[in-house]
Amino acid sequence: MDKYNAVCFDLDGTVYRGNEVIPEAVTLIEKLQRGGIEPYFVTNNSSSTTQQFQTKLLRMGIQTKPEQIMTSAIASAKYCKEHYDGASIMMIGEEGLEEALVSEGFQLTTQNPDVVVVGIDRSITYEKLAAASLAIRAGAHFIATNGDRAFPTEKGLVPGNGSFVKLLETTTDCKATYVGKPEPHMLHFIQQKGYRKDEMIMIGDNYETDIQAGIRFGIDTIHVEGGVTSAETVRKQPSLPTYFYKSLADWK
Ligand SMILES: [Mg+2]
Repeated sequence: MDKYNAVCFDLDGTVYRGNEVIPEAVTLIEKLQRGGIEPYFVTNNSSSTTQQFQTKLLRMGIQTKPEQIMTSAIASAKYCKEHYDGASIMMIGEEGLEEALVSEGFQLTTQNPDVVVVGIDRSITYEKLAAASLAIRAGAHFIATNGDRAFPTEKGLVPGNGSFVKLLETTTDCKATYVGKPEPHMLHFIQQKGYRKDEMIMIGDNYETDIQAGIRFGIDTIHVEGGVTSAETVRKQPSLPTYFYKSLADWK
């Protein structure tokens, strides 16, 4: 454990399940903090703001700073800053994405954008989808915060951002640039804070997103059981995580 200075935790399924905290994660986070390591939280969820995540974590007994939270919304805004600085942006999304884009200095527009950024929007309408389609067809760059096709709620799986992005890809014949996990962009932006890859590790419950993002970025990974991917499924994959644990209490 001592060799890692950037310990990156997935949130849902790793630190908590919905509104229920996973105690082994809290214990591990406290242990890291006592040793002077402030962990990072890396989530594909683009709907909430940094402050909302901070508040949720605090309610669960985890103290963290805004700069330790990396959402697909923040990474999308940073990606746009890196590639399309000064562009006008049409956004489909919620508060988290809006705050991230505005705080990188972007002007949001509903007409003739240079870039269309699509994140989960639980008030999505035909009108918004039509406007985004027309803009992409007219040549705007097409960015998706993440490709998750469904996400879990108390009632079961409901459509995720990836489903709406697929709809737009079908309509426009254009493929989106995806920012969230399994793409490595969020880890890249954490590394930019000043880490070598060999001192970074990604911890998550989902092989397809968390572990793949780590593997593609070239850093060590931990798969933890009890979430999306079973240990049995993980063991059958051609590229394995660096470590797999039943619970985070097993990481020494
Ligand atoms: Mg997860």
